[in-house]
Amino acid sequence: MGNIYQAKCPCGFKQIDLLQGYGINSRDISYELYQCENCHMLVNYELNQQVDSLFKPVHCPECKASMIRLPSETVQHQHPCPECKKETLTLSIVGLWD
Ligand SMILES: [Zn+2]
Ligand SMILES: [Zn+2]
Repeated sequence: MGNIYQAKCPCGFKQIDLLQGYGINSRDISYELYQCENCHMLVNYELNQQVDSLFKPVHCPECKASMIRLPSETVQHQHPCPECKKETLTLSIVGLWD
C-alpha cells in the first residue's frame, strides 16, 4: 500500500498523482519520489526490488543532475519549487492506493 501525493506551490505550480510505496499486486515494485538537486523537478521513479536499491543513483531526465530521494515523512516540509525556485512547494497526501 502506498500514498498518493500532490505537490503544490503558491506560484501556481501543481503536480498530481505522485506515488510512493508498494502496490498490493506488485510486491517487487515500489514507487519513490525524487527531486532534482539542480532544477527541482519532481519525478516518480519505479524501483524493482530485484534489481534496484534505494541507493541507486537517479539522474534528472531534464538536466541530468543527481536527484534526491524524498523520504515519506516529507509531507510537513517545504521543498524548492521547479517553477519559481522558492522553498514554497508543499507535498500533501491526497489518497491511498493499493
Ligand atoms: Zn534537473
Ligand atoms: Zn513555485
